[in-house]
Amino acid sequence: MVFQDSYASLNPRLTIAETLAFAPRAHGLPASEARARVRDLLDKVGLDPANYAERYPHELSGGQRQRVNIARALALRPRLIILDEAVSALDKSVEAQVLNMLVDLKTELSLTYVFISHDLNVVQYLSDRVLVMYLGKVVELGSVEAIYGNPQHPYTRALLSARLSMDPRRRTREAPIQGDPPNPINPPSGCRFRTRCPFAEDVCARVEPPLADTGAQAVACHMRVAGSGHSKAATP
Ligand code: SF4
Repeated sequence: MVFQDSYASLNPRLTIAETLAFAPRAHGLPASEARARVRDLLDKVGLDPANYAERYPHELSGGQRQRVNIARALALRPRLIILDEAVSALDKSVEAQVLNMLVDLKTELSLTYVFISHDLNVVQYLSDRVLVMYLGKVVELGSVEAIYGNPQHPYTRALLSARLSMDPRRRTREAPIQGDPPNPINPPSGCRFRTRCPFAEDVCARVEPPLADTGAQAVACHMRVAGSGHSKAATP
């Protein structure tokens, strides 16, 4: 796993080499092979082993530390890596470098990422499949092309319309979504998005919408379920 805070993720008392060798050693790799693995891992994330292996975390920049965290996640040769807001604390230029490195590593090592982010541009750049959540529930799931090209759930649509445009003619004049998220300890009945949804009807308060397959994607909204009782739903 790779976490958001690159500094808090590393033990300040261990050198980078000790950090990267820790898990391989714990899994029984002899010291000489662990040292070779450390060199290989640092190479993979673009850090010169001769320069960085013996440094401590406070001697690195945020981007370099996050590269070390990614190297540590690779140390046991996983097939799946979970990245939780892993680039959101980085400067934009450093973020782009780390994202490109993640894309290269994914291809080179046949990795799968579960990439958790609030940054819609980053998600679009990195993902094959996208899962949108609101207040702890999945509201939409599909390929990146389907979600960004034809969003179906009102929350996904609001999210995408809140993206800033580079085109000055496409200004956002109204907030795409009103109000604040409800308290997750005491969520609304039925559809959790109903307190902010412009299409909410009685059925939305009574029944939780199932995640229904609509073809290109799956959507949790009564408008997409035939015969749900919503006025915009198709009749079965
Ligand atoms: S189920 Fe109802 S409240 Fe929820 S997103 Fe659909 S229309 Fe809106």
